[in-house]
Amino acid sequence: MILIVEDEIKIARFVQLELEHEGYEVKHVADGGEALTSALENEYELIILDLMLPGMSGTEVLRNLRKFKDTPVIILTARDRLIDKVEGLDFGANDYMTKPFAIEELLARIRVHLKRSKEGVKRMSYGKLVVDLSAHSVTYDGVSVELTKKEYDLLVYLLDHKGEVVSREQTLEAVWGFDFYGNTNVVDVYVRYLRSKIDDVFDIKLVQTVRGAGYVIKA
Ligand code: CA
Repeated sequence: MILIVEDEIKIARFVQLELEHEGYEVKHVADGGEALTSALENEYELIILDLMLPGMSGTEVLRNLRKFKDTPVIILTARDRLIDKVEGLDFGANDYMTKPFAIEELLARIRVHLKRSKEGVKRMSYGKLVVDLSAHSVTYDGVSVELTKKEYDLLVYLLDHKGEVVSREQTLEAVWGFDFYGNTNVVDVYVRYLRSKIDDVFDIKLVQTVRGAGYVIKA
């Protein structure tokens, strides 16, 4: 069961219908206080949380929820200032998406977090490179690596498929959603960003290009 916390009824209805269409059971609440009570009383698989809510703000809901539970939370909000994002992740959100959003991207993020929580994955690594999924942090031999959200998402996706060659199309769909359909160059661009921030700095070969097939982080 997925909980949608959203006071904009149109958005809530839209997301609920899409999720139900995908086969998920869904509950919707519009009030922050009600959301916290419901999240504490029930065992939701995942919570989609708006920030600006009547009753109690989304960050307060999250802060209080985290005292008791680590239910995966995806923040879905119109507030896209960096401070909101940092605050949301500091309070223990697992992901952050801003409105307007592509429903396919939200569905992809949901699949990733459900799979991860089912497997109990908290961190991923490649040699000295460590990704802490709860802290959203990346380090190499203890040295912090600063990545943007998309760079981070791409790295996590590639690590999730370690030892497996993933095509540009697959990567695009999983990390960017269907909105970018056909624009696979963006994958090459972001692989270059990762290489400049990781390979070039630490003198390793992280993401390998497989000609005509895609990319791989070797196992
Ligand atoms: Ca709202």
